[in-house]
Amino acid sequence: MLNGEKSISRPLRWAMIGGGRTGQVGYKHRTGALRDNTAFRLVAGAFDIDPERGRDFGVNLGVDPSRCYPDYQTMFEEEAKRPDGAEVVSIATPNGTHYEITKASLNAGMHVICEKPLFFEIAQVEEIKRLAEQKNKIVGVTYGFSGHPMLFQARKMIENGELGEIRIVSLRYTHGFSATEDAEKYSEAQKWRVDPKIAGPSFVIGDLSTHTYYMSQLMLPDLKIKQLLCDRQSFIKSRAPLEDNVHMLMHYDNGAVGTAWFSAVDAGYMESQTIRIVGSKASIEFSDFQPNRLLYQIQGQPYQILYHGMPYLKKEGLADDRFGALHTEGLGESWANIYLKFARAIEAADRNDINFLRTFVYPDINAGLEGVKWIQNCVRSADSGSVWVDFQ
Ligand code: NAD
Repeated sequence: MLNGEKSISRPLRWAMIGGGRTGQVGYKHRTGALRDNTAFRLVAGAFDIDPERGRDFGVNLGVDPSRCYPDYQTMFEEEAKRPDGAEVVSIATPNGTHYEITKASLNAGMHVICEKPLFFEIAQVEEIKRLAEQKNKIVGVTYGFSGHPMLFQARKMIENGELGEIRIVSLRYTHGFSATEDAEKYSEAQKWRVDPKIAGPSFVIGDLSTHTYYMSQLMLPDLKIKQLLCDRQSFIKSRAPLEDNVHMLMHYDNGAVGTAWFSAVDAGYMESQTIRIVGSKASIEFSDFQPNRLLYQIQGQPYQILYHGMPYLKKEGLADDRFGALHTEGLGESWANIYLKFARAIEAADRNDINFLRTFVYPDINAGLEGVKWIQNCVRSADSGSVWVDFQ
């Protein structure tokens, strides 16, 4: 159980790029990083593409005005001159900027926490992975839903064989926010999401499914996708070639099969993600809309609902619990949990603790790489006429 006590020797000096006043995701980063006063301190930022608005925003967050920078290049130059300069940076800007900013951040000697989808190309991730290794820095990826403790309960139950042999995986992340063309008119964030130059080769595959895919991998670390088939379409024609709806079929290497549905045009739906895993003995189902519980259904027995924080959970399912049973935890706690893991990974990298990093589970650059591979494979299948492709 976590209670905010320090789990690293001192708080890390943290800066943000993007995530400004109008940004959708910035507050989730701050909610996560600043939850425990013992993990991160926000010391600097280039918060906005609009320098004035970014400075005003940073000052309103309580950042020293002299450390609210007009752009990230100036931030790196100025912070490098200070003995107490920022040492880790979070990147919460649109997709098309992630690669350049991550590279610049590593070259400026920073650890990096970057938004998903990490980059557009597998080769870019491999290059950045090599650079990070050379510089002895970590690159974390903010799969922000992946800190829910019940995912770790599920992982342990699956590892113990409590579901039997895994047969079926069902993934869903759908919403209806982009059900009409108006979505692009009223939201800057939606406008760039359907522009391939900024969003990359996909809309909902990158925007939604990378989260659910990572969470499924967290629960099923031993299952690898062998082949997949992806069918994508743009119900709002102006979004083509980027899809606003996608269906997938997966074949896993153990013989399990999977289905997935990701959509931004699921009009009226407001329950985010569901992951159902069916084994030969039992099934589990997790929804990030109700992350405090895990459905556990054993064939031939009444349904069970496992609740967070309860003593009957595995130690892995309790490790990141913050409030204890009865009291609702949510997305803020999930973000705080992954940020705490980033902090622990950064400290381990700084003390060269390779053994710790080898076994420590958090969304690292390999998780980012897997997300980029997933997008590439889905797009390749869909654009070849929705055919089966080997997962490469
Ligand atoms: P947004 O358009 O709402 O906000 C982008 C922010 O970045 C704005 O504050 C903008 O001014 C700033 N910005 C843009 N270019 C900049 C630059 N060069 N330097 C400094 N600031 C810059 O976008 P968003 O919806 O917040 O998405 C940002 C990223 O976060 C995307 O990669 C998206 O996929 C990801 N995202 C992740 C989650 C999650 O749950 N992890 C949720 C939403 C978005």
